[in-house]
Amino acid sequence: MSMQIITDPNRFQEQALKLRCQGKVTGLVPTMGYFHEGHLRLMRWARENADTVLVSLFVNPTQFGPGEDLTSYPRDMERDKELAALEGVDILFAPSSEAMYEPGFSTRVQVPALSRTLCGESRPGHFEGVATVVAKLLVLSLPVVAVFGEKDWQQLALIRRMVRDLNLPVAVHGHPIVREEDGLAMSSRNAYLTPDQRAQAPAIHQGLVRTRDIAEQGERDCRALLDFFSSWIKEQLPLGSLEYAAIVHPQTLEPLTELEDEGLLAVAVRLGRARLIDNIVCR
Ligand code: AMP
Repeated sequence: MSMQIITDPNRFQEQALKLRCQGKVTGLVPTMGYFHEGHLRLMRWARENADTVLVSLFVNPTQFGPGEDLTSYPRDMERDKELAALEGVDILFAPSSEAMYEPGFSTRVQVPALSRTLCGESRPGHFEGVATVVAKLLVLSLPVVAVFGEKDWQQLALIRRMVRDLNLPVAVHGHPIVREEDGLAMSSRNAYLTPDQRAQAPAIHQGLVRTRDIAEQGERDCRALLDFFSSWIKEQLPLGSLEYAAIVHPQTLEPLTELEDEGLLAVAVRLGRARLIDNIVCR
């Protein structure tokens, strides 16, 4: 079956419901497009674990703040269509903003406990935009499973919370971070980096790995670990600056002072026009 491209939300819902009523295991991969290997691996996971693969491609305006990169966000619909088709995607849902947000649209989904920390601090309203659009996408497609990347760990934690709280009938699968050979987490926003910035960018992942190793060698004080990471970034990434580094509980995202069993080291770095996020689990 060749890939179907649907732009109308009602048609997408009809098709997705029909598939589900036929007993198909449907898998949804929500994206903002400009596909890289990270997106493709999520699609591949869905291809291997579902009968029918649905991919949404929507640069959701409500999750961008004023002055953020909504208008300059990289887009390449033709290439994305080709790549999705090559991955065996069944339906590519690519709605317009007007179709997703009709005049008078007013409902908002909030998950306050998981929205205020980390990226939520510098991006007010971002996670409300994410939760609302993901809720809409899940209700439009009612997938058996929805796949999200661990690169956006806070987003994944929030979606898991929302799905439980609202009893949405979907299993959420978190996919491990897909990296470039030099360790940089893949991101559509890596396209913003100049060659000099790109050359320094792997320092983010290297710093995460070193900090995790220090934790595993017995340093359990989060302040000391975070100090190490921030000095590392200062030395190794002179073109960039650290927006935040935090060690939090992996599910509740509450800040930790001591590492007991597991903590998530989550960071955001500004590098030229790009804001890059990454994380690693410390045990
Ligand atoms: P985006 O198009 O950036 O909104 O990403 C769409 C989905 O792909 C989200 O669930 C992301 O977490 C996931 N994703 C993006 N980059 C990566 C990556 N490098 N590794 C794993 N998942 C990713």
